[in-house]
Amino acid sequence: MPVDYVIVGAGSAGCALAGRLSEEPDVDVLLLEAGEDDRRPELRIPAAFPSLFQSDVDWDLRSEPEPGLGGRELYVPCGRVVGGSSAINAMIYIRGHPLDFDEWARSAAPGWSYAEVLPYFKRAEDNERGEDEYHGVAGPLAVSDSRSRHALTDVMLAAAVEAGHEPNGDFNGPRQDGVGRFQVTQRDGYRWSSADAYVRPWLGRPNLDLQSCALVERVVFDGQRAVGVEVVSGGRRKVIRAEREVILCAGAYQSPVLLMLSGIGPADELARLGIPVLEDLPVGENLQNHCLALLNFYTTENALFGIDTPRNRARLETQGAGPLSSNIVEGGGFFRTRPDLPAPDVEFHFSPALFMNEGLTEAQDYGYSFGPIVLKPTSVGRVRLSGTSAGDKPRVQFNFLTTDDDLRAMMEGVRVALDIARQPALKSVERAPASVPESASDDDVRAFVKRVAQGVYHPTSTCAMGSVVDPELRVCGTEGLRVVDASVMPSVTRGNTNAPTIMIAEKAADLILGRPPLPASRPGEGARSA
Ligand SMILES: Cc1cc2nc3c(=O)[nH]c(=O)nc-3n(C[C@H](O)[C@H](O)[C@H](O)COP(=O)(O)OP(=O)(O)OC[C@H]3O[C@@H](n4cnc5c(N)ncnc54)[C@H](O)[C@@H]3O)c2cc1C
Repeated sequence: MPVDYVIVGAGSAGCALAGRLSEEPDVDVLLLEAGEDDRRPELRIPAAFPSLFQSDVDWDLRSEPEPGLGGRELYVPCGRVVGGSSAINAMIYIRGHPLDFDEWARSAAPGWSYAEVLPYFKRAEDNERGEDEYHGVAGPLAVSDSRSRHALTDVMLAAAVEAGHEPNGDFNGPRQDGVGRFQVTQRDGYRWSSADAYVRPWLGRPNLDLQSCALVERVVFDGQRAVGVEVVSGGRRKVIRAEREVILCAGAYQSPVLLMLSGIGPADELARLGIPVLEDLPVGENLQNHCLALLNFYTTENALFGIDTPRNRARLETQGAGPLSSNIVEGGGFFRTRPDLPAPDVEFHFSPALFMNEGLTEAQDYGYSFGPIVLKPTSVGRVRLSGTSAGDKPRVQFNFLTTDDDLRAMMEGVRVALDIARQPALKSVERAPASVPESASDDDVRAFVKRVAQGVYHPTSTCAMGSVVDPELRVCGTEGLRVVDASVMPSVTRGNTNAPTIMIAEKAADLILGRPPLPASRPGEGARSA
């Protein structure tokens, strides 16, 4: 059977793109995924997501020693399963700040301003709160309020308000600053991955085929034109031809790996591994990610600990609620550490659970954790090859907190956290500190940050628009090849990255099918033609 589009990677973007392209009945779409089409309950139960760390649905990468964090190597989770990282993530629904997209459009990506991307966020969305100028209700991606509503999250938010931070009921609405509960990508209290949204409902379409356990090794070229992919599946190696395009949706770590294995990348890096150069491009460079430093406290109250009980499983099944419906990171906030900033530079995550050692050690007590994320990092890293197979784990270096700006923002964020921790609301439920700085002094805060800071799983920009792909996501210097995933972001958004990645796939579907873009619209200004 001829295939028009071969999509590599059934993650957040790959599923959304496959679902949208296959809406056209005369177009055949093949979606290839290295992981399994796994339906185990832990992939649906929101509070179970940390149990998926370092499991067989995780690529389980490690960073190189991080120079800004005392040479520590960080754990780097990444979904390897149908649904990709959206099947193992914390389900927080955040789009980013409007300025992110306006900066993209100005710097490297005309056509991707906030007014131009907002209609695609709305097209993706099925928000249970209803429709308005910021939100949609007719899309495949279920967005809902958390059913868990843990009381400790309310205590943390109350303490933040006591510390002077404004409440915010919708971080994806008119204002990002403030504190509140996150909306989540869940339906009826269960995870709603990109596969649940865009692929599983449409597997009956005759023009959509999903092949799991299929590891793509490289793109096959005829001259500069991509004509297919080489794939290993069931122990057999074969070439699958694409009549129209090959589209890489393998994520910000693996899409650059696949390009480099196909001869597209920095010439010196390819020469190191003896890979003939087809196109010399800065693939894998400009890796951006968010860095997080969590404070942990033991509490006198009930927290998310020991919650996997038959009673709680029954509550989730019958009511779609209870502690197992918690995405753990239930609340958060966005702050500016300097008044002159045009947008927040720090995000907070609040969890009614302990979260230490990058989540790799299971909590053994009742507690809560919260802390800052450097939202607009200036430190950049790199993804490099470690071998000549797509199965070889890439070398990943973030260079977290290696610039003065990033370290300053993180240290200010920790001081904001210490201020929230000493407010009456939180003091009334605190039993003892579990992991905090010795004091608010520069030395103690810096030492704490270097000891506990970790990645927060938002890698982007390794095949960025403007340097590796053009604004229509075509790989420069080639034909018939695009990248559509978090790697094409010119810079990481101010927020969690699942929603903007799905937005990218929504917009890419129109670009690929040659449809006119949705009319641009900025709330308050009305719609205008693109
Ligand atoms: C633990 C965790 C928690 C997170 N929490 C949140 C959150 O709460 N909110 C939020 O907004 N974001 C969160 N994120 C980030 C968000 O999930 C990602 O930004 C988003 O999923 C990236 O989508 P993607 O399509 O670029 O890549 P992915 O979703 O990672 O998809 C890539 C897919 O390609 C497949 N693949 C890779 N290489 C090959 C190959 N050679 N052959 C075949 N298939 C291949 C992979 O197996 C994977 O399925 C989290 C991420 C993680 C890991």
